[in-house]
Amino acid sequence: MTNERPSERSSNTALPIHRVYAVKYAERDARRADHFLGGDPHDAPMPMDYFVWAVVGAGHTWVVDTGFDESDATRRGRRLVRSVTEALATIDIDAAAVTDVIITHFHYDHIGGHAQFPAAMFHVQDREMAFATGRHMVDRAVSHSFTASHIAGLVVLVHEGRVVFHDGDDMLAPGLFVHHIGGHTAGLQVVRVHTEAGWLVLASDAAHYYENIESARPYSVVFDVPAVIAGFDTIRALADRPELVIPGHDPMVLERFQPVRPELGGIAVRVDRPH
Ligand SMILES: [Zn+2]
Repeated sequence: MTNERPSERSSNTALPIHRVYAVKYAERDARRADHFLGGDPHDAPMPMDYFVWAVVGAGHTWVVDTGFDESDATRRGRRLVRSVTEALATIDIDAAAVTDVIITHFHYDHIGGHAQFPAAMFHVQDREMAFATGRHMVDRAVSHSFTASHIAGLVVLVHEGRVVFHDGDDMLAPGLFVHHIGGHTAGLQVVRVHTEAGWLVLASDAAHYYENIESARPYSVVFDVPAVIAGFDTIRALADRPELVIPGHDPMVLERFQPVRPELGGIAVRVDRPH
């Protein structure tokens, strides 16, 4: 990283332009109090959506996170509305052919589908691998959002040479970066992408909902509260405009952006085209 402001770098027209997609694969009913540390005084429904993202540009496709499958859906009471493979197929991406997957963090809803990407290299943070295989997993309060078999599967992938480790902030390709944020988990990373609208940030669970970041209220599942708060500022600084910060689980994403095709309303949107 340099000390340049993100907005200065966005004027670099030599950088590739990427298209960025959010595709919904699952959902659950929930209430406002479920989504804020310390609860919320207003008792009202606040459903949650689950997404997989894709970054397409410069002749390459990057998938961000891998969702979960039927076993976690059943065990955790989530509704899997389509597999991640089916979700990506709606935007003409063949999961089996994808060569690069960025894993934002190792919670079940982000790495549970890694077996659907048999040709992929997986980009992870050093700190997330250490976190998910280390001392904190002994504590159920920390480990409950992880599924042990997913972590074991990733360790096997390490030994097969299919994991690329990143330490902090790193460039994956011109116009495509990962940035360590931490907070929600120790090694959570966000993805910063150069698009036609400017620098966009796929925040994943550094901001589950727009409201988490807009009101600086951390989500209820949290490892390091000060890191979450600092992360809100970092994410805002990394994006050229507030509307180019894409939260990880907010159903509003499907309303604020246009569907990829008319028949994909409520399923797949281009998040690099804010109106
Ligand atoms: Zn999540």
